[in-house]
Amino acid sequence: MIVLKSAREIALVRAGGRILAEAMAMLRDLVKPGVSTQEIDREVEALIARRGARPAFKGYRGFPATVCTSINEEVVHGIPSPSRRLREGDIIGLDLGVIVDGYYADAAFTLAVGEVPPEVRCLIEVTRESLDLGIAQARPGNRLGDISHAIQRHVEGHGFSVVRAFVGHGIGRELHEDPQIPNFGEPGRGPLLKPGMVLAIEPMVTMGRPEVRVLEDRWTAVTQDGSLAAHFEHTVALTGAGPVILTVPDGGPDGPGGPAEREQDA
Ligand code: MG
Repeated sequence: MIVLKSAREIALVRAGGRILAEAMAMLRDLVKPGVSTQEIDREVEALIARRGARPAFKGYRGFPATVCTSINEEVVHGIPSPSRRLREGDIIGLDLGVIVDGYYADAAFTLAVGEVPPEVRCLIEVTRESLDLGIAQARPGNRLGDISHAIQRHVEGHGFSVVRAFVGHGIGRELHEDPQIPNFGEPGRGPLLKPGMVLAIEPMVTMGRPEVRVLEDRWTAVTQDGSLAAHFEHTVALTGAGPVILTVPDGGPDGPGGPAEREQDA
Protein backbone atom coordinates (compact mmCIF):
# COMPACT_ATOMS: atom_id res chain seq x y z
CA MET A 1 0.00 0.00 0.00
CA ILE A 2 1.36 3.41 -0.98
CA VAL A 3 0.98 5.85 1.92
CA LEU A 4 0.32 9.46 0.86
CA LYS A 5 1.92 12.14 3.04
CA SER A 6 0.47 15.40 4.33
CA ALA A 7 2.26 18.73 3.95
CA ARG A 8 3.30 18.44 7.62
CA GLU A 9 4.84 15.02 7.02
CA ILE A 10 6.62 16.17 3.87
CA ALA A 11 8.06 19.09 5.86
CA LEU A 12 9.61 16.60 8.29
CA VAL A 13 11.17 14.60 5.46
CA ARG A 14 12.41 17.90 4.06
CA ALA A 15 14.03 18.77 7.40
CA GLY A 16 15.97 15.52 7.20
CA GLY A 17 16.74 16.10 3.54
CA ARG A 18 18.31 19.45 4.36
CA ILE A 19 20.67 17.73 6.81
CA LEU A 20 21.61 15.14 4.18
CA ALA A 21 22.32 17.91 1.68
CA GLU A 22 24.60 19.57 4.20
CA ALA A 23 26.36 16.23 4.82
CA MET A 24 26.84 15.69 1.08
CA ALA A 25 28.37 19.16 0.71
CA MET A 26 30.76 18.33 3.55
CA LEU A 27 31.67 15.02 1.91
CA ARG A 28 32.67 16.76 -1.32
CA ASP A 29 35.46 18.38 0.67
CA LEU A 30 36.27 15.37 2.84
CA VAL A 31 36.59 12.74 0.12
CA LYS A 32 40.22 12.69 -1.04
CA PRO A 33 43.09 10.22 -1.26
CA GLY A 34 44.15 8.90 2.14
CA VAL A 35 40.92 9.38 4.06
CA SER A 36 39.40 6.19 5.51
CA THR A 37 35.78 5.23 5.05
CA GLN A 38 35.47 5.12 8.84
CA GLU A 39 36.56 8.79 9.05
CA ILE A 40 33.88 9.62 6.47
CA ASP A 41 31.31 7.75 8.54
CA ARG A 42 32.28 9.47 11.80
CA GLU A 43 32.13 12.96 10.28
CA VAL A 44 28.64 12.39 8.90
CA GLU A 45 27.42 10.84 12.13
CA ALA A 46 28.73 13.83 14.09
CA LEU A 47 27.01 16.28 11.74
CA ILE A 48 23.70 14.45 12.03
CA ALA A 49 24.00 14.50 15.83
CA ARG A 50 24.80 18.25 15.82
CA ARG A 51 21.58 18.82 13.89
CA GLY A 52 19.61 16.88 16.50
CA ALA A 53 18.69 14.05 14.13
CA ARG A 54 19.40 10.32 14.07
CA PRO A 55 21.20 8.24 11.43
CA ALA A 56 18.74 6.04 9.57
CA PHE A 57 20.97 3.15 8.58
CA LYS A 58 22.89 2.52 11.81
CA GLY A 59 21.27 -0.55 13.34
CA TYR A 60 18.88 -0.99 10.42
CA ARG A 61 18.71 -4.77 10.09
CA GLY A 62 22.04 -4.77 11.88
CA PHE A 63 23.93 -2.42 9.52
CA PRO A 64 26.83 -1.17 11.66
CA ALA A 65 27.37 2.38 10.34
CA THR A 66 25.82 5.73 9.39
CA VAL A 67 27.03 5.89 5.78
CA CYS A 68 27.19 3.13 3.19
CA THR A 69 30.59 3.56 1.52
CA SER A 70 30.86 1.59 -1.72
CA ILE A 71 34.16 1.82 -3.60
CA ASN A 72 34.73 0.99 -7.29
CA GLU A 73 33.07 -2.39 -8.09
CA GLU A 74 31.04 -2.14 -4.89
CA VAL A 75 27.51 -1.13 -5.90
CA VAL A 76 25.79 -0.43 -2.57
CA HIS A 77 25.90 -1.21 1.17
CA GLY A 78 29.68 -1.07 1.63
CA ILE A 79 30.65 -1.00 5.31
CA PRO A 80 32.99 1.77 6.53
CA SER A 81 36.30 0.56 7.93
CA PRO A 82 39.39 2.18 9.49
CA SER A 83 41.62 0.13 7.18
CA ARG A 84 39.89 1.08 3.95
CA ARG A 85 41.53 4.26 2.69
CA LEU A 86 40.61 6.04 -0.50
CA ARG A 87 43.15 6.08 -3.30
CA GLU A 88 43.64 8.42 -6.23
CA GLY A 89 41.46 7.17 -9.09
CA ASP A 90 38.85 5.40 -6.91
CA ILE A 91 35.19 6.21 -7.14
CA ILE A 92 33.02 6.04 -4.05
CA GLY A 93 29.26 5.79 -3.66
CA LEU A 94 28.05 7.44 -0.46
CA ASP A 95 24.54 6.56 0.71
CA LEU A 96 23.14 8.23 3.80
CA GLY A 97 19.85 8.44 5.62
CA VAL A 98 18.47 10.36 8.55
CA ILE A 99 15.41 10.34 10.81
CA VAL A 100 13.75 13.57 11.97
CA ASP A 101 10.72 13.28 14.28
CA GLY A 102 10.03 9.76 13.04
CA TYR A 103 10.39 10.52 9.31
CA TYR A 104 13.12 9.20 7.06
CA ALA A 105 15.06 10.90 4.27
CA ASP A 106 17.51 9.04 2.02
CA ALA A 107 20.11 10.25 -0.49
CA ALA A 108 23.22 9.01 -2.27
CA PHE A 109 25.85 10.24 -4.68
CA THR A 110 29.07 9.05 -6.25
CA LEU A 111 32.34 10.99 -6.16
CA ALA A 112 35.61 10.55 -7.98
CA VAL A 113 38.68 10.49 -5.73
CA GLY A 114 41.11 12.78 -7.51
CA GLU A 115 41.44 12.20 -11.24
CA VAL A 116 39.59 9.38 -12.99
CA PRO A 117 39.58 8.40 -16.69
CA PRO A 118 37.00 10.06 -18.97
CA GLU A 119 34.91 6.88 -19.27
CA VAL A 120 34.62 6.67 -15.49
CA ARG A 121 33.65 10.34 -15.31
CA CYS A 122 31.02 9.49 -17.93
CA LEU A 123 29.62 6.63 -15.80
CA ILE A 124 29.15 9.03 -12.90
CA GLU A 125 27.62 11.76 -15.06
CA VAL A 126 25.22 9.43 -16.86
CA THR A 127 24.03 7.93 -13.56
CA ARG A 128 23.40 11.41 -12.14
CA GLU A 129 21.61 12.47 -15.31
CA SER A 130 19.45 9.34 -15.23
CA LEU A 131 18.32 10.30 -11.72
CA ASP A 132 17.42 13.79 -12.96
CA LEU A 133 15.46 12.29 -15.87
CA GLY A 134 13.65 9.87 -13.55
CA ILE A 135 12.74 12.68 -11.17
CA ALA A 136 11.36 14.74 -14.08
CA GLN A 137 8.84 11.93 -14.67
CA ALA A 138 7.77 11.87 -10.99
CA ARG A 139 4.63 13.91 -11.51
CA PRO A 140 0.96 13.19 -10.81
CA GLY A 141 -0.79 11.63 -13.77
CA ASN A 142 2.30 9.72 -14.86
CA ARG A 143 2.86 6.10 -13.89
CA LEU A 144 5.73 4.57 -11.98
CA GLY A 145 7.02 2.91 -15.13
CA ASP A 146 7.61 6.35 -16.65
CA ILE A 147 10.28 6.98 -13.99
CA SER A 148 11.83 3.54 -14.46
CA HIS A 149 11.87 3.78 -18.22
CA ALA A 150 13.45 7.25 -18.33
CA ILE A 151 16.32 5.99 -16.19
CA GLN A 152 16.85 2.77 -18.13
CA ARG A 153 16.71 4.47 -21.51
CA HIS A 154 19.36 7.01 -20.61
CA VAL A 155 21.69 4.49 -18.96
CA GLU A 156 21.50 1.86 -21.68
CA GLY A 157 21.70 4.54 -24.38
CA HIS A 158 25.22 5.20 -23.11
CA GLY A 159 26.16 1.52 -23.10
CA PHE A 160 25.94 1.07 -19.32
CA SER A 161 23.76 -1.39 -17.37
CA VAL A 162 21.01 -0.88 -14.80
CA VAL A 163 21.26 -3.04 -11.66
CA ARG A 164 18.14 -5.17 -11.24
CA ALA A 165 18.72 -6.60 -7.77
CA PHE A 166 18.14 -3.30 -5.94
CA VAL A 167 15.44 -0.72 -6.50
CA GLY A 168 14.20 2.62 -5.20
CA HIS A 169 11.32 2.85 -2.76
CA GLY A 170 8.63 4.88 -1.11
CA ILE A 171 9.78 6.53 2.12
CA GLY A 172 8.20 8.22 5.14
CA ARG A 173 7.57 6.68 8.55
CA GLU A 174 9.54 3.68 7.23
CA LEU A 175 12.83 3.69 5.36
CA HIS A 176 11.45 1.32 2.76
CA GLU A 177 7.78 1.69 1.89
CA ASP A 178 5.73 0.82 -1.18
CA PRO A 179 6.09 1.24 -4.05
CA GLN A 180 9.28 -0.44 -5.19
CA ILE A 181 10.84 1.71 -7.91
CA PRO A 182 12.85 -0.36 -10.41
CA ASN A 183 15.36 1.48 -12.57
CA PHE A 184 14.07 -0.41 -15.59
CA GLY A 185 10.58 -0.82 -16.99
CA GLU A 186 7.90 0.11 -19.48
CA PRO A 187 6.44 3.62 -19.80
CA GLY A 188 2.76 3.92 -18.92
CA ARG A 189 2.84 0.87 -16.62
CA GLY A 190 2.64 0.47 -12.87
CA PRO A 191 0.90 2.51 -10.16
CA LEU A 192 -0.54 5.92 -11.01
CA LEU A 193 1.52 8.69 -9.41
CA LYS A 194 -0.37 10.96 -7.03
CA PRO A 195 0.30 14.14 -5.02
CA GLY A 196 1.55 13.25 -1.54
CA MET A 197 3.71 10.35 -2.65
CA VAL A 198 7.29 10.56 -1.36
CA LEU A 199 9.76 8.47 -3.35
CA ALA A 200 13.45 7.62 -2.97
CA ILE A 201 14.59 7.25 -6.57
CA GLU A 202 18.03 5.66 -6.86
CA PRO A 203 19.59 4.42 -10.08
CA MET A 204 22.49 1.98 -9.61
CA VAL A 205 24.51 1.68 -12.80
CA THR A 206 27.45 -0.49 -13.88
CA MET A 207 30.00 -0.15 -16.66
CA GLY A 208 29.64 -3.85 -17.47
CA ARG A 209 26.96 -6.44 -16.77
CA PRO A 210 24.04 -5.74 -14.43
CA GLU A 211 24.48 -8.78 -12.15
CA VAL A 212 25.60 -8.29 -8.56
CA ARG A 213 26.57 -10.56 -5.68
CA VAL A 214 26.78 -9.96 -1.94
CA LEU A 215 30.10 -10.46 -0.15
CA GLU A 216 30.64 -12.62 2.93
CA ASP A 217 30.08 -9.59 5.19
CA ARG A 218 26.43 -10.10 4.08
CA TRP A 219 26.08 -6.41 3.15
CA THR A 220 28.49 -5.27 0.45
CA ALA A 221 27.02 -5.79 -3.03
CA VAL A 222 29.59 -5.91 -5.84
CA THR A 223 29.31 -6.32 -9.58
CA GLN A 224 29.77 -9.95 -10.57
CA ASP A 225 32.06 -8.98 -13.45
CA GLY A 226 34.13 -6.59 -11.33
CA SER A 227 33.10 -3.55 -13.39
CA LEU A 228 32.74 -0.14 -11.74
CA ALA A 229 29.36 1.01 -10.41
CA ALA A 230 27.78 4.38 -9.61
CA HIS A 231 24.76 5.28 -7.48
CA PHE A 232 22.73 8.47 -7.08
CA GLU A 233 19.59 8.99 -5.01
CA HIS A 234 17.21 11.73 -4.00
CA THR A 235 14.08 11.70 -1.89
CA VAL A 236 11.34 13.43 -3.88
CA ALA A 237 7.83 14.62 -2.97
CA LEU A 238 5.14 14.58 -5.67
CA THR A 239 3.00 17.71 -5.71
CA GLY A 240 0.38 19.10 -8.06
CA ALA A 241 3.08 21.45 -9.36
CA GLY A 242 5.46 18.56 -10.06
CA PRO A 243 8.36 16.86 -8.27
CA VAL A 244 10.04 18.60 -5.34
CA ILE A 245 13.49 17.27 -4.40
CA LEU A 246 13.70 17.14 -0.61
CA THR A 247 17.39 16.17 -0.28
CA VAL A 248 18.94 19.39 -1.59
CA PRO A 249 20.06 22.59 0.15
CA ASP A 250 17.60 25.47 0.59
CA GLY A 251 17.00 27.04 -2.78
CA GLY A 252 17.13 23.64 -4.49
CA PRO A 253 19.89 22.09 -6.59
CA ASP A 254 20.33 25.34 -8.53
CA GLY A 255 20.27 27.54 -5.44
CA PRO A 256 23.10 28.93 -3.31
CA GLY A 257 25.40 26.11 -2.22
CA GLY A 258 23.58 23.59 -4.42
CA PRO A 259 25.35 21.05 -6.63
CA ALA A 260 24.92 23.19 -9.76
CA GLU A 261 26.73 26.11 -8.23
CA ARG A 262 29.48 23.92 -6.81
CA GLU A 263 29.96 22.27 -10.19
CA GLN A 264 30.55 25.70 -11.72
CA ASP A 265 33.12 26.42 -9.03
CA ALA A 266 34.96 23.17 -9.72
MG1 MG B 1 17.33 4.31 -0.69
